[in-house]
Amino acid sequence: MRARLVESYELAPEVRHFVFEAPEVQQIHFKAGQFVSLSEDLAGKKITRAYSIASLPNGNRFELCLNLVHEGAFSPHLFAMHPGDTVEMTQPLGFFVVRNPAREALFVATGTGIAPFRPMARDYLTHPEAKQLTLIFGVRYENSIYYRGDFEVLARRHPNFRFWPTLSRPAESWSGRTGHVQTHLLEAIGERRDLDVYICGLKAMVDDVRAILKGLGFDRKQIIFEKYD
Ligand SMILES: Cc1cc2nc3c(=O)[nH]c(=O)nc-3n(C[C@H](O)[C@H](O)[C@H](O)COP(=O)(O)OP(=O)(O)OC[C@H]3O[C@@H](n4cnc5c(N)ncnc54)[C@H](O)[C@@H]3O)c2cc1C
Repeated sequence: MRARLVESYELAPEVRHFVFEAPEVQQIHFKAGQFVSLSEDLAGKKITRAYSIASLPNGNRFELCLNLVHEGAFSPHLFAMHPGDTVEMTQPLGFFVVRNPAREALFVATGTGIAPFRPMARDYLTHPEAKQLTLIFGVRYENSIYYRGDFEVLARRHPNFRFWPTLSRPAESWSGRTGHVQTHLLEAIGERRDLDVYICGLKAMVDDVRAILKGLGFDRKQIIFEKYD
């Protein structure tokens, strides 16, 4: 199936939000948190890469949050696309979805690892049995808190949602949390051990957070993760 780019816009330097549609179908069915694989023949070689869907199901449209890997084989191709250009896509796949919205949850993301949490947070919070949800989102700079407005609105609407951006390179004017996501895990978890933790981002962070959680006594089944590399 082909996906056609409707529009894309900058979220921060070298990070863009993409809106695609799949004109061959009326509806793309997926669960919040799943990904699509995009592929193209580039320089005679078929390249395929996975991308978390950064939106809720909405007809034949889906949105992505992508950062440019300069020496990368595929992301520069997507960044060079113009509205109307197309790319090959698969049906949505993956198991990184909210398992049980009736259990308290912690979401941990860095960088574009925020993508699946944008729809997953809405999915979780609109469930009638939703408990407390905390999202710890680590980026370097304040202007890289992608979708900050969306999450702040969600936090105002849902008193059971805590949005905790944390900056590893804060400006002096920043009065929020600082440091890596790992620094804030204990504060988010407290004495509780009966919550599910969802982690998304690059391998180094995901593995580190998993190791901390295991050290705190979390069971493997309570730690759900998606690694980007
Ligand atoms: C299930 C899944 C979902 C994914 N979802 C997203 C997403 O929503 N947004 C997104 O931008 N990427 C996502 N990725 C990563 C994506 O598939 C590609 O790996 C990424 O676009 C780089 O591809 P490339 O061909 O340009 O680079 P490659 O030639 O494959 O080079 C890989 C290098 O890029 C690094 N890298 C991979 N992903 C990133 C990243 N996001 N930020 C910085 N460095 C990275 C790797 O560590 C590695 O060093 C996802 C990966 C998986 C497995």
